[in-house]
Amino acid sequence: MNGAAGLVDRYGRRATDLRVSLTDRCNLRCSYCMPPEGLPWLPKEEILTDAEIVRLIGIAVTRLGVTEVRFTGGEPLLRPGLVDIVTASAALAPRPRLSLTTNAIGLERLASALHAAGLDRVNVSLDTLDPDRFARLAHRRRFDDTIRGLHAAHAEGLRPVKINTVLLRGINDDEAPALLRFALEHGYELRFIEQMPLDAQHGWKREEMITAQEILESLNAWFDLSPDPAERAGAPAETWLVNGGPTRVGVIGSVTRPFCGDCDRTRLTADGQVRNCLFATGETDLRGLMRAGASDEDLANAWRAAMWGKLPGHGIDDASFLQPARPMSAIGG
Ligand code: SAM
Ligand code: SF4
Repeated sequence: MNGAAGLVDRYGRRATDLRVSLTDRCNLRCSYCMPPEGLPWLPKEEILTDAEIVRLIGIAVTRLGVTEVRFTGGEPLLRPGLVDIVTASAALAPRPRLSLTTNAIGLERLASALHAAGLDRVNVSLDTLDPDRFARLAHRRRFDDTIRGLHAAHAEGLRPVKINTVLLRGINDDEAPALLRFALEHGYELRFIEQMPLDAQHGWKREEMITAQEILESLNAWFDLSPDPAERAGAPAETWLVNGGPTRVGVIGSVTRPFCGDCDRTRLTADGQVRNCLFATGETDLRGLMRAGASDEDLANAWRAAMWGKLPGHGIDDASFLQPARPMSAIGG
């Protein structure tokens, strides 16, 4: 792969980290993501087949310089072909690193097959350690399933096991220290994510959001956090060593501490659209091109053009900011 053929944009960024959404469906209804009644799901005929997904991942890896593939959704464990898609992705040369972002419901059953297929690591979303709060936040009483899936991933040897947490004011914003204690006890790496305006209900309010600063203040009351000497290198999380290390905690301040200048991501939705940013208002239809008979090089060129047009930042603070039409669950977080 020569450098000029990769996914570069006019600001000099290079996308090497591909997020693939495998479905827009989910078995939870986290309030910052989906309304309790769910959403009109994408029609089946618009969803990429396993073979189409594998073809596009292959193009990204072999022609466009992608080195990291993360499967997400919706809930990726609901995709029946997940293990086969991981197997095919792991067979690519050069082999990309493979990871999964999941609510872990069902991971207890699937962790071993996914690891054997070539999955390297998982991020499990867990916002609370209280089963009742979990039910209030996710509108489903599935706390035990998530915890079992989380522990199963670790027992299976997937490393690192990371936990993603979104804090909501008045709901779980007092839990940052307890979640970090839990992560330290089990050897998980905890990362807090600022809530972003990506919920289907458009209920996000900046003044209600728990900021990175608040999260750090709440952790500093209980832990000694020191700057992490490891370089950030495109990673969105700012990390700190906890009580001298080696355990780290991360905070992804997407809203108050944006990292757009270092962004190395490209996204493929379950219905085959390339998005050059979570907050992009436009998309590039690779599904349509592929089903019309496009060659691998045609698809690679369309993907390159999609990334070339990436804006310098998400613009959440601009007066003209418009929340994207697709909610997080249909983009792939
Ligand atoms: N269902 C899987 C899960 O929850 O891990 C994968 C998809 S989910 C959309 C991916 C990540 O996005 C989760 O960690 C979730 O907490 C996060 N997320 C969803 N909506 C968000 C929002 N409005 N702001 C910040 N993070 C959000
Ligand atoms: Fe489902 Fe993940 Fe959205 Fe929660 S954050 S509703 S688990 S897609």
